[in-house]
Amino acid sequence: MGPPVKGFTTKVVHNDRQDTIEHGSLHKPIHANVAYGYDDAKELAAVFQGTKSGYSYGRQVNPTVTALESKVTVMESGVASVCFGTGMAAIGTTMFALLRSGDHIVSSAFLFGNTNSLFNTFGQMDINVSFVDATSVDAVAAAVTEKTRVVFVETIANPRTQVADLARIGEFCAQHGLVYVVDNTMTSPYLFQAKAVGASLVVNSLTKYIGGHGNALGGGVTELGNYDWSTFPNIYPEYQGGEPTKWGITQIKKKGLRDLGASLGPEAAHHIAMGSETLALRVQRQSDNAMAICRYLQAHPKVKRVYYPGLDDHPQHARAQELFRAFGGLFSFELQPEVDLWDFLNRLNVIVKSSNLGDNRTLAIPVAHTIYFEMGAERRASMGIDESLIRISSGIEDSEDLLADLAAAFE
Ligand SMILES: *Cc1c(COP(=O)(O)O)cnc(C)c1O
Repeated sequence: MGPPVKGFTTKVVHNDRQDTIEHGSLHKPIHANVAYGYDDAKELAAVFQGTKSGYSYGRQVNPTVTALESKVTVMESGVASVCFGTGMAAIGTTMFALLRSGDHIVSSAFLFGNTNSLFNTFGQMDINVSFVDATSVDAVAAAVTEKTRVVFVETIANPRTQVADLARIGEFCAQHGLVYVVDNTMTSPYLFQAKAVGASLVVNSLTKYIGGHGNALGGGVTELGNYDWSTFPNIYPEYQGGEPTKWGITQIKKKGLRDLGASLGPEAAHHIAMGSETLALRVQRQSDNAMAICRYLQAHPKVKRVYYPGLDDHPQHARAQELFRAFGGLFSFELQPEVDLWDFLNRLNVIVKSSNLGDNRTLAIPVAHTIYFEMGAERRASMGIDESLIRISSGIEDSEDLLADLAAAFE
């Protein structure tokens, strides 16, 4: 063990040193490796039986991935994490491992598109989902039935930036013994600690802010130590060993990851671990850039509306101020009807027309025509997605250059 460390970035940067340092390497090496050999057959058996710690097979365990899991746990102030090949794999495997036929999920209606699609698929398999306006705990409470097992919310929704009633939903779930899963992708553990609002599990798409460089896909789920799984009916007897606050993550790893096999590769784990070291620096800068651009857009006559939790007129501005260290890098805006969406986007030079978010580059995407195209105009309208809505994920560029780029595109 190294010296005690305190701040967010200090903890992340020095985390690999808390464990054995291989050959003095300050970065956890990339173990491009699937199988693990043992000289003693009894030791091999003990590792498989879980009576001795060790590595069994690459689908479940890899030292480079374990090192990243430890970093994610530290960032989320949790007790244990499991990493996956993508954020969707983290969400899908978590729900698959914890739910059974007949169970019910209450989910925020303001949801990442693929999570929405996944939950609709669960509906085909007799795991039903109620989608509610999670900006109010009352809507969540009204949808809960005796079959409800999980409440699922995102922190800041994409693209309209609604902020869930995170703290009150946490209190409600604690009172009713419900598993509370928070998708922290949009805020990242630097801006928001889901543990503080009583979340049971927190999921992150590591692809976005934590990896941060648009060069690796990954996902993570972290047990936060808040939930007593001995009250949860779906934990198999073989995973009911040790602390009841860890049974959930054990079942996700031992059953979910093994069965579905959506493992994170060691090279991607290394990229993400490198990225995570600068998470705090990047997100602060991205938040500052987002605020500067939103203020500019809000005052611009060719802009109809701006959606960003950092603005005074945002419906959950006060809540966001209370919960988050800064307001993050994601915002969206609608153009006045006289502005041609395509011309405007095509005149941008610094800002890249692309999906993804949390990259070092500022990215812009016309939401209705891309990521929300498949659902059709009617459903888009019901979700408040205007046809001219542009989502921006601010990067770390110099803010003057971003403002100049927008000004030129409005000319
Ligand atoms: C991107 C994203 C995901 C899925 O992550 P992938 O790594 O792309 O699979 C899940 N939730 C939110 C909020 C996201 O933005």
